[in-house]
Amino acid sequence: MIDDSLARKAQKQLYKAAREIKFDKNLLKILENPMRILKVSVPIKLDNGKIKVFKGFRCQYNDAKGPTKGGVRYHPNVSEDEMVALAAWMTWKCALLGLPYGGAKGGIICDPSKLSESELERMTRRYTTEIMPILGPHIDIPAPDVYTTSRTMAWIMDTFSMFKGYTEPSIVTGKPEILGGSKGRKEATGRGVALITKEFFKVRKKSLKGAKIAVQGFGNVGGHAALFLSQLGAKVVAASDASGCLIDPNGLDIPGLMDCVEKHACIIKYSAKKIDREELLFQDVDVLIPAALEDQIHQKNADKIKAKIIVEGANGPVTPEGDEILEKKGIVVIPDILANAGGVVVSHLEWVQAMSGLYWEEEQVNAELERKMVKAFKEVWASAQKRNVALRCAAYVMAIERIAEVYRYRGIFP
Ligand code: NAD
Repeated sequence: MIDDSLARKAQKQLYKAAREIKFDKNLLKILENPMRILKVSVPIKLDNGKIKVFKGFRCQYNDAKGPTKGGVRYHPNVSEDEMVALAAWMTWKCALLGLPYGGAKGGIICDPSKLSESELERMTRRYTTEIMPILGPHIDIPAPDVYTTSRTMAWIMDTFSMFKGYTEPSIVTGKPEILGGSKGRKEATGRGVALITKEFFKVRKKSLKGAKIAVQGFGNVGGHAALFLSQLGAKVVAASDASGCLIDPNGLDIPGLMDCVEKHACIIKYSAKKIDREELLFQDVDVLIPAALEDQIHQKNADKIKAKIIVEGANGPVTPEGDEILEKKGIVVIPDILANAGGVVVSHLEWVQAMSGLYWEEEQVNAELERKMVKAFKEVWASAQKRNVALRCAAYVMAIERIAEVYRYRGIFP
């Protein structure tokens, strides 16, 4: 692994927490390495009759706590390194939230906007076939991530089911409700981001009413976080996606923006003042929610951040060097493994529902999501105060202590 890699950055966060608690050096040897990485070629026939071969990955980082769980990403920047980092973060996230899962991540190097619906379907089905040897409801359960949706999950589920000879809804989460998807799953990550922001304001004895928010990445996570925060009285004054950035000091109309994304697949067609996409991060706001991709706030730009709080909707948006600069500036970062855990919390509920064949009402799902997120926030907050460390370090400490406890009982095979 090269030093500058994303996996290396993820390791640095792990080492920081390990140092804080003088973590067992032998166990750390296990936790600093991914358990399994599968690299696959995904050949498909394009609509024009030509064959194109895509590269795909699935990394299962650690399965001590249970089957591995993690999204599937379709993006030109997907790499083995990125999958390892994202799978590591899934491992700590599941442990922190007390879920019976390890962490995984998969993806294909591609630009999905350049593929037709039928090409996307063939690519998804062939990718599923290639990673089938390591998939299963008790082995590894995929979910949506950047540029994949419930439609993608339906194709994965159908392909897996066709090979097995029976319908297996618990092989993926984030699937359409008609196939056994959970009510509230689509909104769950953004809802969780809003819940965590609300809890933070509560402990700081501040009101969310009128608080200024900027959201980078108005996709599934960012769009829903903006929606729920605006419903709580906050003002989303800036939002961006790959197409550009919009600002309105009086607060953008979030349902209107969501309609625009539904119609045009981007926000830039919405009528509001436009600024450079990169400027979003440097807006003078109370809360900045990076909800697009990793590595957005780093050594070279962290000193320009004006927000008082950063709530990580995306995975890995702040680098370890960025973290240090923000900490010195007194900017609080609510870490990804806590802030965006709502998705995997409801994915777990979806898996339980599919396994049992008993489906829940949305109120029940949302109540359980809120219970788990608030509990995790309070634990991380209390631990950070007690140890006098940043929230990220406190969250990592809790996650790795739980995994260490599992190893103490299970031992190291053989
Ligand atoms: P998505 O595909 O629905 O949305 C991604 C958004 O980011 C899109 O609007 C895209 O246009 C935008 N974007 C891409 N590049 C950008 C750039 N340079 N500047 C600004 N915007 C840009 O994906 P998503 O599911 O919302 O995932 C977003 C992030 O949240 C990822 O880091 C993902 O790993 C993380 N996450 C997702 C879930 C989930 O349940 N979907 C759960 C936890 C974490």
